[in-house]
Amino acid sequence: MLLLRASRASPAAMMAAAAVVRSKPTWLASIVGLSSSGGRRRKGGRRGKAMPQPQPQPQPQQQKEVKRVVRWKCATGCGACCKLDKGPDFPTPEEIFADHPDDLQLYKSMIGTDGWCTKYDNSTCTCTIYQDQPIFCRLEPKVFEEYFGVPSRPSTFDREACSACVDTIEMVYGEDSAELTNFKHLIRE
Ligand code: SF4
Ligand code: SF4
Repeated sequence: MLLLRASRASPAAMMAAAAVVRSKPTWLASIVGLSSSGGRRRKGGRRGKAMPQPQPQPQPQQQKEVKRVVRWKCATGCGACCKLDKGPDFPTPEEIFADHPDDLQLYKSMIGTDGWCTKYDNSTCTCTIYQDQPIFCRLEPKVFEEYFGVPSRPSTFDREACSACVDTIEMVYGEDSAELTNFKHLIRE
């Protein structure tokens, strides 16, 4: 199951943290080529009479990159979200399934001793019960809305799902991993 990384404090804090990710996803900014512009006063500049500085004009290539959007796609051979014990940076099963006690029991029963789902085949990176997988494993807008309160607008879903995948892949394989590079490349295509 793919989870949004969030504070462990409370569901309200979880959503607040998710909102922060939504408002300033740094990895996303690097993908779409956004950058913050910061002015710095020149050393030795004269007081009171600021010299007009030429404003940098966006180059055609930059303008093109800013308009780029990400589209969520699952990367073949990844499987990172099937590591169910996701560690302290992610919400606990109790927090995620506070309103779904049956899902909580099912989710916990699927966690193997190595933290991976017992239904996951790590030799092929596939789900062995794909046709019958629990609803919380399905990566669809209505599932994100149900469990995380993420509005099911396509653009919002794409952004949140991509962000959650990046966080999860980083946690499982590392920030310099081939899996993460592959995923970032995939969602830009
Ligand atoms: S790309 Fe995302 S949804 Fe697909 S297996 Fe990896 S973490 Fe899961
Ligand atoms: S049931 Fe399948 S999709 Fe869900 S976590 Fe387990 S292996 Fe992954």
